[in-house]
Amino acid sequence: LNRALAEFGTTIFAEMSALAVRTGAINLGQGFPDTDGPEEVREAAVRALRDGRGNQYPPGPGVPELRQAVAEHQSRFHGLGFDPDTEVLVTAGATEAIAAAMLGLLEPGDEVIAFEPFYDSYAACIAMAGARRVPLTLRAPSFRPDLDALRAAVTPRTRLLLLNSPHNPTGMVLTREELAAVAELAVERDLIVVTDEVYEHLTYEAEHVPLASFPGMRDRTVTISSAGKTFSFTGWKVGWVTASPALVSAVRAAKQYLTYVSAGPFQYAVAEALRLPDTYYRDFREDLRRKRDLLSDGLEQAGFRVFRPQGTYFVTTDIRPLDEKDGLAFCRALPERCGVVAVPNVIFYDDAEEGRSLVRFAFCKREDVLRESVERLRRL
Ligand code: PMP
Ligand code: GLN
Repeated sequence: LNRALAEFGTTIFAEMSALAVRTGAINLGQGFPDTDGPEEVREAAVRALRDGRGNQYPPGPGVPELRQAVAEHQSRFHGLGFDPDTEVLVTAGATEAIAAAMLGLLEPGDEVIAFEPFYDSYAACIAMAGARRVPLTLRAPSFRPDLDALRAAVTPRTRLLLLNSPHNPTGMVLTREELAAVAELAVERDLIVVTDEVYEHLTYEAEHVPLASFPGMRDRTVTISSAGKTFSFTGWKVGWVTASPALVSAVRAAKQYLTYVSAGPFQYAVAEALRLPDTYYRDFREDLRRKRDLLSDGLEQAGFRVFRPQGTYFVTTDIRPLDEKDGLAFCRALPERCGVVAVPNVIFYDDAEEGRSLVRFAFCKREDVLRESVERLRRL
């Protein structure tokens, strides 16, 4: 195994989902919905298959219909104008967008500042690019970034900031003020920002504002999103990047040798999904807000300390009130103890002490499943 990858092992999502299958436990670990996305979008995929659209290699940057729909979505929801021909790139999920951005933009020895806890692929992709990650720790209970620490972390070797808001696993959503401070720093120090906004539509009390909308940011920001979260099709692996032509070209330079293109028929279906009426987006968010409250209330009643998220479909908890301190051991034993699977946040940290007692539960599940999970967890 390549030395850069050796420290990463098997992803926690694979380990915990395999544990759920083996034990028959309810899987609140890996973040995927247990109800598929809209029927009409599935029908659109079937139609594309039947009509022979996308059954052969689609164009490298993605099918024009999807690039156009992504550009319209950025304008409709965020007031951002992108040229579908030069400023939009379709990827195999947000995961490939992250990998291609790191490989296309970084030189060996560059530094990348990223919030810790970080989504597990960030560290691996930075390592594959030969660069060095510089963590900026988000601390309980608010998990808000320390902007002075961010400023102090920038060195002459810093090439880019890798942001994620709404943030997995903490559910923190960056405020306008925080984003403005990041933007000011990026402009002042001439940094590129790669921002993972896959949970852009999943915000509750907070509002999601894209970093690219701040002064000076449009042409130095690589914005990443995905159909997996917004439309509940995590298995389709359709994601996209919006950025200036120069940054899209850099990401595409790497993408063309990773997958060349992403699966064709799903791209046509996602183009239709992006055009769903506002009521779809509103109802999806309201449904998840109810589920967030159901699971958060239940976890509180079961004795966890709950950090109710402002966004995403994850809730982070602290297990110390249950007289537990090691989240990894707790999660490995949980299926046997009560038939529920969760994810230990420690795997998202370089500083293991920071995340040791934190455990993440996904609430993108049917209400009856969440109720049953709470019943089981109360018996702990
Ligand atoms: N970024 C974050 C923050 C995520 O939580 C996820 C997946 N859950 C991804 C990227 C990957 O998205 P995709 O499935 O579209 O590759
Ligand atoms: N992003 C999802 C999560 O955080 C899982 C994606 C994956 O399995 N890589 O649970």
